[in-house]
Amino acid sequence: MNTALLIDDVRLTPILISDPPLLNTQGVHQPYTPRLIVEVVTRGGVTGVGETYGDGVYLDLARPLAEALPGHPVTDVNGLFGLAERVCGGSPGAEEGVDASGLRGVRTAGKLRLSVVSAFEVACLDALGKAVGLPVHALLGGKVRDAVEYGAYLFYRWAEHPGGGEKDDWGAALDPAGIVAQARRLVAEHGFGSFKLKGGVFGPDREIAAVRALAEAFPGRPLRLDPNGAWSVETSLRVAERLGDVLEYLEDPTSGTDRMAEVAARTGVPLATNMCVTTLPEIAGAFARRAVRIVLSDHHYWGGLHRTRELAAVCRAFGVGLSMHSNTHLGISLAAMTHVAATVPGLEHACDTHYPWQAEDVITARHVFAGGRLAVPDTPGLGVELDRERLATLHRRWLDDDGTLRERDDAAAMRRADPAWVTPAVPRW
Ligand SMILES: [Mg+2]
Repeated sequence: MNTALLIDDVRLTPILISDPPLLNTQGVHQPYTPRLIVEVVTRGGVTGVGETYGDGVYLDLARPLAEALPGHPVTDVNGLFGLAERVCGGSPGAEEGVDASGLRGVRTAGKLRLSVVSAFEVACLDALGKAVGLPVHALLGGKVRDAVEYGAYLFYRWAEHPGGGEKDDWGAALDPAGIVAQARRLVAEHGFGSFKLKGGVFGPDREIAAVRALAEAFPGRPLRLDPNGAWSVETSLRVAERLGDVLEYLEDPTSGTDRMAEVAARTGVPLATNMCVTTLPEIAGAFARRAVRIVLSDHHYWGGLHRTRELAAVCRAFGVGLSMHSNTHLGISLAAMTHVAATVPGLEHACDTHYPWQAEDVITARHVFAGGRLAVPDTPGLGVELDRERLATLHRRWLDDDGTLRERDDAAAMRRADPAWVTPAVPRW
């Protein structure tokens, strides 16, 4: 064993990053959202970085794992899973329910643990890559493309948060004209060639009108609509019927594999998901019933970059496409997404990213899209450098918070504007 590759120290830094007032079916993004930055330092003096969700439940799992890691080699990323099971508690499968709701599908103990392990896996791969002088994609077997395409992620949004927060110059987007204007600006600034509208905010007719307006403004471009499972089967079918000629796919029109399978059986519009297939146990039923044609992977909750490649192989075996889901994230995770996406064959859809909405970051040089694509870096590791001053500032914000923003809660954020708001039951329409 090369002792220089043994982990000497692990640093966990919870932060709060600014987030615009983006609307979804559960509410609105908070003015600040928690993320966790993981640093793994080797005995050889190399530091690798990773990033994941930063809510308390993730921190509670990350701390014992961080404490157990010194002495563990950064090469042994497969060993992280067993180690996490031992030190974080829970049975090996750990699929007991924690919470069955949310925008990212089921919330099981095992999935939470994988979300934490993913940040450590990415940090280990970054450290290993830096130590041996290889990019992370090379550690995953090598890139099969030199650039990864991302899509413009459109949101209904307010001009500003009701209760403070950072201001931006995007203004409100609450109707088709606002969504088209937002799309035009994202194209002008980043060159995106495809569009996804986060739906489930207004009634389906209003969202159909917005997608129609996009189709008129950007003829022939791939369009997607994602109401996060807010519709019934019948509503999903009605939307599919009315937008079938312009949609690349419909994303989680309805909740759960049963309803998704019913919709899929009755429309030719492809269905994609980041809600009904988010863990291994959900794959068999959903694929056997042909409920989805595209799985939107997320290396955070699938357990890292190697696990994302395993998911890609399972999808290939069943003729199911793979693309990438995105939650609010920073440049470390975007680098990780880009490295793994670069290694996956047959990536036919532009990946999602919230990145253009994140004005703050913890890396020294922000990623720059060219023609909607990110070049796959060949520099060692992830190819990003931690900005320690920014990290300290954002950590200070987390320390100063009274606890209300340390847990992401879109419904609570909505209640600041509408005190009577409760998370809508599904199907909402
Ligand atoms: Mg989605």
